[in-house]
Amino acid sequence: MLATPDDLLAFDREHLWHPYTSMTSPTPVRLVTGASGVRLTLGDGSVLVDAMSSWWAAIHGYNHPVLNAALTAQAQDFSHVMFGGLTHEPAIRLAEKLVSLAPRGLEKVFLADSGSVSVEVALKMTLQHQRGQGRAERTRMLTVRGGYHGDTFGCMGVCDPVGGMHSMFASMLPEHVFAPRPPAAAAAAAAVEEWAAAFTALAREHAATLAGIIVEPLLQGAGGMHAYPAACLQVMRDVADELDLVLVFDEIATGFGRTGTLWAADAAGVSPDIMCVGKALTGGYLSLAAVLTTAEIGRGISASESGVLMHGPTYMGNPLACAVALASLELLTSGDWAARVPALEAGLAVGLAGARDLPGVHDVRTLGAVGVVQLDHPVDTVKAADAAAELGVWLRPFRDLIYTMPPYITDDDDLARICAAVTRAAEVA
Ligand SMILES: *Cc1c(COP(=O)(O)O)cnc(C)c1O
Repeated sequence: MLATPDDLLAFDREHLWHPYTSMTSPTPVRLVTGASGVRLTLGDGSVLVDAMSSWWAAIHGYNHPVLNAALTAQAQDFSHVMFGGLTHEPAIRLAEKLVSLAPRGLEKVFLADSGSVSVEVALKMTLQHQRGQGRAERTRMLTVRGGYHGDTFGCMGVCDPVGGMHSMFASMLPEHVFAPRPPAAAAAAAAVEEWAAAFTALAREHAATLAGIIVEPLLQGAGGMHAYPAACLQVMRDVADELDLVLVFDEIATGFGRTGTLWAADAAGVSPDIMCVGKALTGGYLSLAAVLTTAEIGRGISASESGVLMHGPTYMGNPLACAVALASLELLTSGDWAARVPALEAGLAVGLAGARDLPGVHDVRTLGAVGVVQLDHPVDTVKAADAAAELGVWLRPFRDLIYTMPPYITDDDDLARICAAVTRAAEVA
């Protein structure tokens, strides 16, 4: 009988895998019994301010009346129908909204069920487009070191080859081309020029076998929370144009205002040929992602031997997810994110400044509603999370990084509490 919170946690420990955990000695987990606004309620009755937005997705906070209403209204109509041969208003209206918000030229939409799947689809689109142009030998991607694009096999192949999972699955992964990681956002112009020269030379060297370029624009997330100069995006656009490469921006982490512009690509005024969005798309309610591309790529794919885009997941275009995504985008675009994100950035800069002088702290940086304290050693993640929880904050550090991506609705008091918890975690871990 699973009667008490302790019973539930004991079963969880024996039977459930959590992300990147051991089945034999799992790290402790906390039981959530409720979530509202920016707060999580736990099984022991304690309450934590969520500094993670549930992996960067819950931008409007939890239990939002508008999102709840969109979900329940759609559930009363119908929850799901297959997207093969059928269509529905939630998917159509969501696509219309995405196209209206997307960088110039991105007007064809594929709805996928998760970020990783959307990256798989973007890679497929890239290869099929090249085949459609009679360039079947172009099968590799050019990317930069330090990236993260998801956990499925196609995605792993373009993740950072050292920090990612290449060594474990080497024989299963295609060999893509890795350019140096772009310099840090604050780097001098000379460093950007040096990087641009290396990136361009590598692309030219491998052009005959390259199909496209894939990067996280402006901010590499799970690969190390590394922000880089917007000027690098223009370099990538120029290289793609020169060598007939498809430029893919993975905006799964950066999209929907997180870095201060609606799309990270907007910081450089660059339009990619393909863009992936996910994570915050549904405001953290359901798994949904989208791949947007141009009419030209759409035609290119259709010119390939199959004549069609070869993908079609069972739950493609799930109406519940589409309805809540549309409501989330309407909340976002009718709201004040464009003022809130810079306000959060300013609050994070002030609140985390004290961490700079702590022993063991290598760097403190902010970009939009992202605050990062990088240590000079791997974080003791359990110790760090416990120290934050003592101050009433939920943090989930990784590698050498203690960071926050708070919901946009976080107020000044809660943001100060988050900054105090990040700083405390950096002290003890
Ligand atoms: C999270 C993430 C993904 C993978 O998305 P999932 O929904 O977890 O499959 C891909 N790319 C980036 C940049 C991400 O941050």
